[in-house]
Amino acid sequence: MKAPRGTEDLLGSDSIAWDIIQNTAKDIFSRYGFKPITTPIFEQQDVFVRGIGKATDVVDKEMFHVLSNNGFDKVSHGESLKAAQNLALRPEGTAGVVRSAIEHNLVPQGGPTVKLMYAGPMFRCERPQKGRLRQFNQIGVECLGAADPSADAEIIIMLIRFYEALGIKKDSIRLLINSMGDDNCRPAYRETIRQYIHDHSDDLCEDCNRRADINPLRAFDCKVEKCREIMEGAPKISDSLCDDCKAHYEQVKKYLDLAGIAYEEDPRLVRGLDYYTRTVFEVQVIDGLGAQNAIGGGGRYDKLMEVMGGKPTPGIGFALGFERTYLALQASGIEFKEDSESDVYVAVVDEACANEAFSIVQALRDAGVRADMDHQGRSLKSQFKQADRMGCSVAIVVGPDELANGQVTVRKMDTHEEEKVAVEAAAQHVADMLS
Ligand code: AMP
Repeated sequence: MKAPRGTEDLLGSDSIAWDIIQNTAKDIFSRYGFKPITTPIFEQQDVFVRGIGKATDVVDKEMFHVLSNNGFDKVSHGESLKAAQNLALRPEGTAGVVRSAIEHNLVPQGGPTVKLMYAGPMFRCERPQKGRLRQFNQIGVECLGAADPSADAEIIIMLIRFYEALGIKKDSIRLLINSMGDDNCRPAYRETIRQYIHDHSDDLCEDCNRRADINPLRAFDCKVEKCREIMEGAPKISDSLCDDCKAHYEQVKKYLDLAGIAYEEDPRLVRGLDYYTRTVFEVQVIDGLGAQNAIGGGGRYDKLMEVMGGKPTPGIGFALGFERTYLALQASGIEFKEDSESDVYVAVVDEACANEAFSIVQALRDAGVRADMDHQGRSLKSQFKQADRMGCSVAIVVGPDELANGQVTVRKMDTHEEEKVAVEAAAQHVADMLS
């Protein structure tokens, strides 16, 4: 049997990379006050429909729907499901975090800013290719309750510091930023783009034409080369921003300048999701990842809490893709080596010594030492080979002759130096040796 198309097993050093990347994120993001949150992997579909937008590809085309047995029966007989039975695997993290923040009143009106971070799998039924999976892992943050441009700048700086901490070279990535305006200025811009699409309908693809009236800004995201060329010529949002949005955007840039963060302004960077307002940003790898070069991105979503049934609360966040970040690290020659599996191997000379050996292994582990033993009845020689393979620095040999004197042999694997130690003192002696 094989894993489903578009999914990956994380084995060996790949799994270690996922751990290291999560730990680096925790380390860096905690310096900025972010605290962990874990939300369900599936939610009521409506969380995503409302929180992401019906007219987005993520919801409209790529969402994995979840059916319980009961739901499956109903659907296959043409019945419809109640909202509570209509579940979907999460395609991204923000909608679930915001649902949780509303449900548990995590951001009371007038309260301090709430900073949350998450890590875990997301699911999108896209056409799989390099850097594009159907189950992939994201690490993301949401900063709720802060409207000030300092919050926008802070999380952008934090994202760049994260990539730097992993060893990604500054000149191998580019940070794109833009402002998408707000309720004041975006509607007029949307209308301008809707009109622009209609004026160029013959040259634009079916999707762009279809979206013209429901989500015209998505045309900027279209992957079709001809559409890209046409949209290059479209009016820019930067020329339509209202004074407040302009001032907000200028201040975000000022803070980035103060922190020495290089950025490129991209007036056509519009995130595909409906809930973004004002600041949007994306980090791209310059070489090596082809079309899937976005390793992270996010933006401000001041309308989202309200759209999802909460009180008006500003918010900003980002998500970064583990798999693409890892590809970028590998492309720049950064490796995550597997650590040795264990530090101490307890070798048994014959079965009669198994009880003592078993007890020593448990005592070592209780003393905080990584220890292991054979569970397959192997010869002493092959137990030593196994100890070497596992990268153990010490072996404890439990044999009948030594046991007769109440002792075991402690052997350093590199120098083969040996000493005899009392059975009951062996675990602590080795633990002390290793510390
Ligand atoms: P998004 O939620 O679309 O803004 O995506 C945030 C980040 O998640 C992107 O910058 C990618 O690094 C990653 N990502 C999005 N979709 C996929 C996918 N299908 N496969 C792998 N990574 C993805």
